[in-house]
Amino acid sequence: MKQKTPKCHQCGVALASRTAPPHRRKLRYEGVAHDVLVEAMPEWHCAACGISVTDEEGDPFLQAALRKHVGLLTPDQIRAGLKALKISQDTFAERIGCAAESVSRWLNGAVLQSRTYDRFMRIYFHCPEVRSLLANGSPEQTFGDVVVHGPVDSPAIRGGQKGRETRPLGSAGG
Ligand SMILES: [Zn+2]
Repeated sequence: MKQKTPKCHQCGVALASRTAPPHRRKLRYEGVAHDVLVEAMPEWHCAACGISVTDEEGDPFLQAALRKHVGLLTPDQIRAGLKALKISQDTFAERIGCAAESVSRWLNGAVLQSRTYDRFMRIYFHCPEVRSLLANGSPEQTFGDVVVHGPVDSPAIRGGQKGRETRPLGSAGG
């Protein structure tokens, strides 16, 4: 990545690599522009002209800043999830229904997962019942085409003990 040193387009002097000061940038995610704080981003700087330019080396930093801003799982968190579950990227992709290349791109930081996939991954990591349902995910097996009610849906419980009601989906009476 660091083979060539670009030259300043104004004065022709070789640019020096440096770390850009923290700054805000408008970055798009799912069609919406976000005002994102970008830190530790490498850039090229001409001391003579005072010009700074960035190249593809800065992309991972922008991606990481946007990821943090939006609140998505990081590549490390996803990787840790896969490791804890002892499943491969390919198996994971198959279970959650996306291309193996997508998982690979999320993990190397090149692409941000959609919010939908982000939530789905969180649910997958969090709920053994979900993993169990998806592990036997032959096409002819159906689940989720009807709503299964559980105590979480009850107004009496809602507001009381929040959050941690990881009731297995299948065990709710009905
Ligand atoms: Zn210059």
